[in-house]
Amino acid sequence: MSVGARVEVDTHCPYCALQCGMVVRDEPAETTVAPREFPTNRGGLCQKGWTSARLLNTPGRLTTPLLREDRNAPLRPVGWTEALDYVALRLHELRDRHGADAIGVFGGGGLTNEKAYQLGKFARLALGTSKIDYNGRFCMSSAAAAGIKVFGLDRGMPFPVADLAEADAILLVGANVAETMPPFMRHVRPAADKGGLIVVDPRRTATAEAASLHLAPAPGTDLALALGMLHAVVADGLLDHRYIAERTTGFDEVWRIAAAWWPERVERVTGVPAADQRAAVALLAKARNAYVLTARGTEQHATGVATVSAWINLCLALGLCGREGSGYGCLTGQGNGQGGREHGQKADQLPGYRKIDDPAARAHVAGVWGVDPAELPGPGPSAYELLDSLGTERGPKALLVFGSNVVVSAPRAGHVGDRLESLELLVTSDFVLSETAAVADVVFPVTQWAEEDGTMTNLEGRILLRGKAVTPPIEVRGDLDVLHGLAIRLGQPAERFPVDPETVFAELGRASAGGPADYSGASYERLRAGEALHWPVPAADHPGTPRLFLDRFAHPDGRARFQPVEHTGPAEPPDPEFPLHATTGRVLQHYQSGAQTRRVPELMDASPEAFVEVHPDTARLAGVHDGQWATVTSRRGSVIARVRCVTTIRPDTVFLPFHFPGAQRANLLTNPALDPTSRMPEFKVCAVRLGPA
Ligand code: SF4
Repeated sequence: MSVGARVEVDTHCPYCALQCGMVVRDEPAETTVAPREFPTNRGGLCQKGWTSARLLNTPGRLTTPLLREDRNAPLRPVGWTEALDYVALRLHELRDRHGADAIGVFGGGGLTNEKAYQLGKFARLALGTSKIDYNGRFCMSSAAAAGIKVFGLDRGMPFPVADLAEADAILLVGANVAETMPPFMRHVRPAADKGGLIVVDPRRTATAEAASLHLAPAPGTDLALALGMLHAVVADGLLDHRYIAERTTGFDEVWRIAAAWWPERVERVTGVPAADQRAAVALLAKARNAYVLTARGTEQHATGVATVSAWINLCLALGLCGREGSGYGCLTGQGNGQGGREHGQKADQLPGYRKIDDPAARAHVAGVWGVDPAELPGPGPSAYELLDSLGTERGPKALLVFGSNVVVSAPRAGHVGDRLESLELLVTSDFVLSETAAVADVVFPVTQWAEEDGTMTNLEGRILLRGKAVTPPIEVRGDLDVLHGLAIRLGQPAERFPVDPETVFAELGRASAGGPADYSGASYERLRAGEALHWPVPAADHPGTPRLFLDRFAHPDGRARFQPVEHTGPAEPPDPEFPLHATTGRVLQHYQSGAQTRRVPELMDASPEAFVEVHPDTARLAGVHDGQWATVTSRRGSVIARVRCVTTIRPDTVFLPFHFPGAQRANLLTNPALDPTSRMPEFKVCAVRLGPA
């Protein structure tokens, strides 16, 4: 809409998966944003959203491709033709010398659906490589895998966010929404006001402050807590026998394990009082409507899938899932964390949330792409395994990174930095010189958020159109243009890699048709008209599916499957040398690796540096004081962070935010022990020691 000399476009925030509704106003003097009424944010924005227009004219904006032939030389500005020709030539050479798998691709959960789709297609067709994965593997992959095991389908929240407002009780596990997505608090506030908000977190966070019950288990013991609560459900006569008989399978096997985890035993393992476990269960069981919601705190573990499964088991035992007004959901974090996991940038996946080793899926997608199914590579390694193999004899010699900053965000970040250095070619596509772009051989300067059209899928599975609101700098192009430019140089037909997002979305719809995440009935036209389309949308006249599983779950028998899971504890327990648990997370002002939010002055003023949150008793024992710089050391590296003494954290635990670069990178500490199913690294707990810097 044009108002006088200014242009107003309804769009969504560039950051997290809540995808708050906002208006971008492009006025002669300045571009600004303002909140707008939308179901996920109800007219609210957090500080990140309010200041997001700053990104559009950030001083470090990349406006021309950058290239260096020599690693020791600085990046120099070049034209697009030179940059694309150079990359294509090097990729050709490497492929000829080492085969197609010598090239790796790393995507991101912030990429639009169109980019995620095109990136997967580019890897499989233009490069012919199986080695593609993305940073969503580091985000919600454990919850996704658990959802598929239990329900037969993964959609983070299988119900609209707005449904939460009617809940009497909500159990939030490992989610600090008051800081990570503040407008979400509007949805849980009614339950909190009724005394029904329960928060599980080793820290007394701002979210826990709003709860009527805060359970603070030792890091890495959530699964034991879930078993204890399930035990309490049975022992206190709160089991929903009829629901279990009619809608589930496998309860007896689960109970055989949970029977040995009575709340007093769980108290000894987790530190959560048995009475609190029983009180939490009673709140959930007595509520007319109740939800269990998990997030990264409980998911980012080497036992993440089992842990999330244990929480869903609890939810099923109470008869909550697949019922209007109740259920289980995962709070997806990244802006397109939901859509980004559906369209084929994942190592084992084809568009429509299809499995790449399923012959029928391969035939369908190959048909849409106009190739023989035999041409499609098979599954590749997961994100950390891909990064860990870079530059090794069997690993990729080149890596193309789109929408990710692995130098800061990958686990065991020092080692990942070494692996990147060992590559023969590192190419990134970004709108600022992130820490990963800074060590690349070629950097493509690309459009961001409000400078391009594209769709996102928010945490409730709703497809959103983010429209172009401002004109990008003249030399900047979109990621779809980069993929097109490289694909044609690698011998692909130009029409196979269109650059128009609407055209790509239409093709994505055809590729997803009949798959679990079916977008085939969605279109830009319907989205522009304001339709609320939650996938699956299998036909142009289909209204979308805001609530899944109301009649049946997605397994062939229509039932949810209880998962028998055992507590094993963290992969790296504390010991005399490393006596503390370290856990990591986010602060209100920053998003993910901070590559964007660290460029916003208001956010940096409020949160300029890494800190280590520590209990005063622990600080005293470690010889550090509030406000002083300290060193936190794990078996993988050391971090410098400013001490912040608080009584709201367990004395056996320290907390660090993971948004900061260089020597302040929390991921220098983290443990890349992987979940056997999701391949999620154990970001949320490792053993450390604390000392003066
Ligand atoms: S960062 Fe998330 S919670 Fe904050 S305004 Fe953006 S979408 Fe909303």
